[in-house]
Amino acid sequence: MKTRPAALTELLGGGADLCWFRAPGRVNLIGDHTDYHEGFVLPLAVDRDCMVAARQRGDGRVTVRSVEMRADGPVDVAADGSDAPEGVEPPWGRYVAGVVRTLADAGRGPVGIDAAVSSTVPVGSGLSSSAAFEVAVALALAHAGELTLPAAELARACQRAEHLATGVPSGVMDQVVALFGRAGHALLIDCRTLAAEPIAIPDALAVLVVHSGLPRALAGSAYADRRAAGERVATRLGLATLREATLDDVRDEPRARHVVTENQRVLEFADALRAGDTAALGQLLLASHASLRDDYEVSTPELDLAVDLLVAHGALGARLTGAGFGGCVVALVARAHLGDVARKTVAAYRTETGLKTDAFEVRPVDGAGPVTVAAGA
Ligand code: ADP
Ligand code: MG
Repeated sequence: MKTRPAALTELLGGGADLCWFRAPGRVNLIGDHTDYHEGFVLPLAVDRDCMVAARQRGDGRVTVRSVEMRADGPVDVAADGSDAPEGVEPPWGRYVAGVVRTLADAGRGPVGIDAAVSSTVPVGSGLSSSAAFEVAVALALAHAGELTLPAAELARACQRAEHLATGVPSGVMDQVVALFGRAGHALLIDCRTLAAEPIAIPDALAVLVVHSGLPRALAGSAYADRRAAGERVATRLGLATLREATLDDVRDEPRARHVVTENQRVLEFADALRAGDTAALGQLLLASHASLRDDYEVSTPELDLAVDLLVAHGALGARLTGAGFGGCVVALVARAHLGDVARKTVAAYRTETGLKTDAFEVRPVDGAGPVTVAAGA
């Protein structure tokens, strides 16, 4: 099989003048649906990424080809950001147009590029292939247009690009961790300030991802509804965001209660990770899943089953990860038991559901940046 650099070089008809970048996907250990309420999250950048190769072109066009969406042919938009993202076809080109637009807003000159991407982040699974794609394309565009932005501003620009592309008012976690990830560490991110504190994940603990076998469904409108419900509660309480709410404020409001208790769990999880308290980590994962299932109502019977099976087969704890409504579950597992837990969980899940599933370890890696690709690789 061809390497990714070879596939990208071939798509671009040769390689000597190409610039290379990568941006990782992520798995969120804890803290879901808190980022857009300026709360806390604790994800890690994972060893699956979107790679991009690009060269400048002189005609003010941005063209992007995707190895994964090869059949679609290239996306082609104006480099000055004048193309409205929501109208671009094929739909993945909307992310490209979104990033071109938001970087133009940030002062990027209208320099065109010829680019190609290839990603090992599974699409639509909750591991944020979209942020990996946006950030990789953004790095290539910023480089060609000689735009230097602080990483936090680049993250915000990519988040706005996703809003333009999808119409979903998603939070900023995915773009921040794609840029700030640290090898061997998870990141405690304060989504108000975007301060990101790396916290080491001990080698004795493995992060296991189990796919429910079902893509994320209905996420767009249900996501917007939930965000709006939380914002209404904050407004009624006279608060700028749910970040400032206390448990007493929201005791009878399940959606807001999830956000408030989840923020607390993220901070407790960070403490337990620093202290090496694995029992507490497992309990917090399970409490987070229960809150997403019962209070926020974004789980599915399949995600619930995957969590139950993981725990029954020896995981320390597990929870749905990402927006919910399908996609993946994340578990912490003692490394010594990793193979056993993964194998038994997958077998039992297949027997009970008949769904095609997959379980794989993810390792924490550094955030996005340039890549050196040897000639002829
Ligand atoms: P997730 O971020 O959980 O993987 P999303 O629905 O948010 O799921 O994002 C998936 C979308 O991102 C894809 O449908 C596609 O539009 C875009 N995308 C991700 N990776 C690629 C890629 N390699 N090539 C083209 N588009 C991609
Ligand atoms: Mg996404």
